[in-house]
Amino acid sequence: MKVFDLHCDTIGECFKQGKSLLTNDMHFSLDRARLYDEYNQVFAIWITDDLRGKAAVDYFDKVADLYYNTLQEHSDVISEYSSKSDTPVKSILAVEGASACGGTADGIYHLYDRGVRLVTLTWNDNNEIAAGAFAHGGMTDFGKRFVVVARELGIVLDVSHLNRQSFKELTEIYSLPFIASHSNADIVDNYYGHKRNLEDWQIEIIRDRGGLIGLNFCSDFIDNPSHPGAESVADQIRYLSAMGCDDVIALGSDFDGCNMHEDMRGVEKMQSLYNKLLEAEIDENLLNKVFYQNAKRFFDKYLK
Ligand SMILES: [Zn+2]
Repeated sequence: MKVFDLHCDTIGECFKQGKSLLTNDMHFSLDRARLYDEYNQVFAIWITDDLRGKAAVDYFDKVADLYYNTLQEHSDVISEYSSKSDTPVKSILAVEGASACGGTADGIYHLYDRGVRLVTLTWNDNNEIAAGAFAHGGMTDFGKRFVVVARELGIVLDVSHLNRQSFKELTEIYSLPFIASHSNADIVDNYYGHKRNLEDWQIEIIRDRGGLIGLNFCSDFIDNPSHPGAESVADQIRYLSAMGCDDVIALGSDFDGCNMHEDMRGVEKMQSLYNKLLEAEIDENLLNKVFYQNAKRFFDKYLK
């Protein structure tokens, strides 16, 4: 079975907790991911909203050092997505919170030079680029310059965590496809779901541009109390498929970034989740697109 996951926070948690990416008690580890035929994982370095300017850059650099040390140490298991190495796990480096650039133009090039190929523009608060899901406002003047430079460099933009106004303003100045790496359709009735999940008009824009929507397993954003776990993932796939998104839906697990139902809790559950979705009568061809093919097609096209 092949898997492509658009978001996890594992490398940052390894840094904070002093744990190994190879073997650990967290949602994702290399020794479990390597058991699949192919496992593609976007590793996001999450910049918390209390880190700005040089402090954000310094934190990013430390976690990026751990990421590259890990790739070097376990080069038989994991390699960068764009490399030719034939390892069971392939990785893409991302930042969650573009404040990792320190709010400077030079900082954008620094992120690129360090291998970042996907940028989630904000976390939940305002940053130098835009306003997040729990904040007021939209794109800043610097943010508008940031996305132009990122586009020229070939960095994929990620709108998960943007508020509606920032999302709308981005679409007015940026014409390429973008992704929502870990955001669901807004069909869960709770406060957090309404803030973080995508409304239909946003789903339509991502769909029409040929982007991706990674299903987030976080209980706050996906679980319906009467319909939790794999059933809630099936609800999302049915809803998005009915909106014409068969080529758009992907996985954005949010491993090691939140609490989730046991059906999805950990890399070792991806096979049983797939089987439960088949039992829920989700079409097998569609499931193969969701678990692997859609993201594979997108990144093969947009990552150089
Ligand atoms: Zn997130």
